Amino acid sequence: MASSFVHRTCSLCEAHCGVSVEVEAGRVRSVRGDPDDPFSRGYICPKAHGLLALQDDPDRLRRPLRRGPRGFEEIGWEEAFELAARRLREIREAHGPEALGAYAGNPNAHDIGSILYLPALLRGLGTRRRFSASSVDQLPKMLACAAMFGGGLSVPIPDIDRTDHLLVLGANPLASNGSLMTAPDFPGRLRRLRERGGKLVVVDPRRSETARIADEHHFLRPGTDAMLLFAMVQVLFEEGLVRLGRLEALVHGTELLQTLAKDFPPEAVAIATGIDAATIRHLARELAAAPSAAVYGRIGTCTQEFGTLASWLVDVLNTLTGNLDRPGGAMFPRPATGRAGDEAVGSGRIPHARWRSNVRGLPEAFGELPVAALAEEIDSAG
Ligand code: SF4
Repeated sequence: MASSFVHRTCSLCEAHCGVSVEVEAGRVRSVRGDPDDPFSRGYICPKAHGLLALQDDPDRLRRPLRRGPRGFEEIGWEEAFELAARRLREIREAHGPEALGAYAGNPNAHDIGSILYLPALLRGLGTRRRFSASSVDQLPKMLACAAMFGGGLSVPIPDIDRTDHLLVLGANPLASNGSLMTAPDFPGRLRRLRERGGKLVVVDPRRSETARIADEHHFLRPGTDAMLLFAMVQVLFEEGLVRLGRLEALVHGTELLQTLAKDFPPEAVAIATGIDAATIRHLARELAAAPSAAVYGRIGTCTQEFGTLASWLVDVLNTLTGNLDRPGGAMFPRPATGRAGDEAVGSGRIPHARWRSNVRGLPEAFGELPVAALAEEIDSAG
């Protein structure tokens, strides 16, 4: 029987690379990168090469399982839905909605079914004990963006295909293909950045894959990104390198920012960050001098004590150098539908600390509690 090809996107991460799936007699024969995909242009990473093995894996869960006295037993879908709905209802009626908890893993963010129906299910459960991978990932960035731009999903990302200078902190896009800066074939995009005379600078405590191919890699003590970034802000003010340009009318509080930054000259943070003062000045000057530049911080700048501050400072630097929302700088992606970050736009309120976890009183953000509190919330009564 002749095989045919269907075109889909890989659902294993946010990059959504195009895949060409060869099907014969109802079975998948091969999965390859789709050269006609306008975004990924045939690129797929090693994970997608494993899609066929995943599809045919004998251990893949294909039917609902219920744990019984003899271990897991297969049950039908109707029975599984009835059982789940009945038990959730019974628990809610006996103990209230807060006796229920929900955890949504990362793949929900790139699955159309989950995007459509998970919010409805959570509303139906009525619980505020919601958790997801976001709180060990990008939630601090979303908070910073809600405070700065009015919406947690209004996250500027580098215009990688046009920038002249890319400063990356706490990110490894060569392995992740971008994550928030979704960019399939990051190696190819980076090669083209170099070919047009651009520069890649990486600040990371680890010699990551991206750091290994960067023009410069500076080791930073973990958790000190905010100090480094504040020192770069201080250099921009001290050396008259602030160029707000057309952003001038949109920016408030630069005098206050300048005052705050005075406490963080490069010499004051050099020992703590592990980066000497001359290098910090060099980082700030090069960023300011580049025809276009973008600062990009990811999970390493988020999941730390000063993650929200560091995330905010990334876009403070993009703003002070005039690189926010301009070609070659850090730009706001356009969503396929709707408007990014609606939740804070107009209300002026940042969705944060409206309720707290039971055990440690940790604040929610964007409707979810930190997943670090999940185990103790399960173990505790009430
Ligand atoms: S980067 Fe890899 S895992 Fe992510 S969508 Fe592309 S092929 Fe799939």
